[in-house]
Formats: sequence, C-alpha cells, structure tokens
Amino acid sequence: MDRTYGKRTQMVHGGTRRSQYGEVSEAIFLTQGFVYASAEQAEARFQALGPDEFIYARYGNPTVAMFEDRMAALEGAEDAFATASGMAAVNGALCAMLRAGDHVVAARALFGSCLYILEEVLTRYGVTVTFVDGTDLDQWRAALRPGTKAAFFESVSNPTLEVVDIAAVAEMAHAVGALVVVDNVFATPVYSRAIAQGADVVIYSATKHVDGQGRALGGVILGTRDFIRKTVEPYMKHTGGAMSPFTAWIMLKGLETIDLRVRAQADSALQIARALQGHPKLARVIFPGLADHPQHALAMAQTGSGGTVLAMEVAGDADSAKAAAFRMMNALHVIVISNNLGDAKSIITHPATTTHQRLPADQKRKLGISPGLLRLSVGLEDPADLIADLRAGLDAI
Ligand SMILES: *Cc1c(COP(=O)(O)O)cnc(C)c1O
Repeated sequence: MDRTYGKRTQMVHGGTRRSQYGEVSEAIFLTQGFVYASAEQAEARFQALGPDEFIYARYGNPTVAMFEDRMAALEGAEDAFATASGMAAVNGALCAMLRAGDHVVAARALFGSCLYILEEVLTRYGVTVTFVDGTDLDQWRAALRPGTKAAFFESVSNPTLEVVDIAAVAEMAHAVGALVVVDNVFATPVYSRAIAQGADVVIYSATKHVDGQGRALGGVILGTRDFIRKTVEPYMKHTGGAMSPFTAWIMLKGLETIDLRVRAQADSALQIARALQGHPKLARVIFPGLADHPQHALAMAQTGSGGTVLAMEVAGDADSAKAAAFRMMNALHVIVISNNLGDAKSIITHPATTTHQRLPADQKRKLGISPGLLRLSVGLEDPADLIADLRAGLDAI
C-alpha cells in the first residue's frame, strides 16, 4: 500500500497480499515450503528471489511478509524482519551486526533478558559493553568512542519508566559512527516516531501491544532495507528465529485494532496515575504522563503520551513494603497477577520477586527495583473499575 496513507490506514491495510480468492481477512499461509513449476524455476528462485517469492518459511512466508510490511509502514521504516519472540529480535539485531572486538554502549535499565544478551552472550564472543545511566547524556557522551558499533537502550525502561532521549543519543552515537538500536516496546508502535528521531534500528516484542490479547510470542526488527536484508536476514534465516505464519496472522489482526486499544489503555493509565498520586499508602507513583516524572517533558515531546504502563511504590521499609505490596496484589479482583504487558487485561507485577528476581541486590537498588515497587500494565477494562480495584487493594494494606 502507498506509504502516503496515514498510520491508521496502514494498520488495517498495510502489506496485504490477496490470493486468487480475494479474501477480505488476511490468509494464513500455514506452509513451510512452496512448490515450483519446474526444476528450472526452483534453481532460479534459489539463485535470486523475486519481489514476492518464497522458498522456505524460515526465510520468509506470505503471511509473515504481510506482517513485516505492515509493521514497516507503521513505523516509517524501509523494511522489517519478523521473529519468533521479542528476544529473538533483540538477539538477532545485535548478533547480526556485531563481531569480536566491537564495542557497545547500553543503558543499564534493561529488561532482564536484554541484560543477559549484553552481559553474558555478547561478552562471551568478544564484544565489550559499557553500561550507562540512559537518562544521563554526559554518561553517553563519555562512553561512546570512535569504533563504538551500537548504542542500545529501551526508549522507556522496564519497570521504572525512565525515558531516554532518542534524538540526543542518536546525535552523539552517529558522530562516532555507531548505530542506534532502540527496544521500543513501552513506547508502542502507536506513539513511536523513533526513526524520525534518529533511531537506526527499532525493535518490538510483538507479544505486548501488537498482539495485545496475550495469545502469542513474537517480535520484529525494523531498519533500512540494507540493514534488514544484508545484515539481519542472513543471520536470522540461518539461525532459525523466524516468526511462524500463524503468529504473523495473530499479529496482523492485532495491528488492525492497536491504535484504538493503546490509546484507550493510555487514557486509562493517565486517569489511574492521577487517581493514585498522593495516596497515603504509596511512596510514589511513576508515570511519564505525570508532570512530576523526571522526564515528563521529554516523554511528551518524544511520543506525546505517558504510555500504558505505570509503576507505584508501596510505602514502608524493605520487609514491610514487600509484605504490603503482596497484600495489595492479593486483594485485587479485576487486575490479574501476571508478567505480560500491553494486554487487554490489566496486569500487576512485583518485579523484585519475578521479572527481576535474579538481579543482584545492588543492581536492583541502582535501578530502583525496590521491595515495594509494583508495575501495572493498564488494560481495556472500565477505568473506574480499575481505580476502585486499586483503592480497595491499597485499603487492604
Ligand atoms: C517483553 C519484552 C522483551 C522480550 O519480548 P518477548 O516477546 O517476551 O521475547 C524485550 N524487551 C522489552 C522492553 C520487553 O518488554
């Protein structure tokens, strides 16, 4: 579809390929292989793929290609590669572009599995990584050096919702020739303008808002056609992290409603953050959409939204805060205890004992993952019911 159409039109029609039956809803091409009309055609296709030709689903598939093209259109990227999960996307993008001796600068506040790739996997293969406080531009400036290959960060960090200035980091990274690789899950494809702001590579876990209904794992790497086809594709197609066609279909259907869902979730998140702000049982409410958030102005300039996730810290010292947080979670009736985010169902998480359990205590402290910290992914329920549920939970402390 013509790229001049708006984002919402792309969400519904972008990348659509119709079979000879002219189906309205995207077809699921649940096939790993493709039949060739002749031996000559097979030979030709293995030599060079035409614009809409496929040979094996690990390399590409029509349903997966629809999802890739739709995501690229939404994000304003030249091309995309769909992956089996968000982590396959992070690992694929970084491993495809880095080699022994390379240097990477990364923000310290990262999803646990991203941290594993940077600290354990890349260093094992001779890549050196310098960690910085992603919100401190002086630290980025000091760490980036000629020869640095990549700057990697979550544009909004999990779970403490620190916002990194994409344009400012990109300017410094590009000055030393490094690519800017952004894990953009919390910004969501609805609010993202990361490529226009200077990101070279944008990564989503499609498991989150793209599916948005908690059904399937998926991911996507977005970038220039050269980067996707010459750097990412050879690595991904030979290492096996491809997205399944059935997952691609789920994600395509998710994209049709993502704008409506995410805007409703973000509206509710702001209402909830305002309702909880100043609650006597809470030491603080962290939400980029609130004026007291340290990067509120940046969040508004960068994405125009506070997002769909908020964090709150239950008051009390270490032992009592954990007990209080657990008591509150256990008293909830609408919000479920789980660890996904971006789902239609509101989900509460205690990061210190679940998603970030394995982080050493000093790291947790450095990242603000305290015993009283709770992460709330706001869903599509009535916001009044969510606020009442949270207030009743806090009353139970
Ligand atoms: C969930 C998440 C991932 C990993 O995605 P999966 O689909 O679970 O593999 C990576 N980064 C961020 C910021 C996430 O929230």
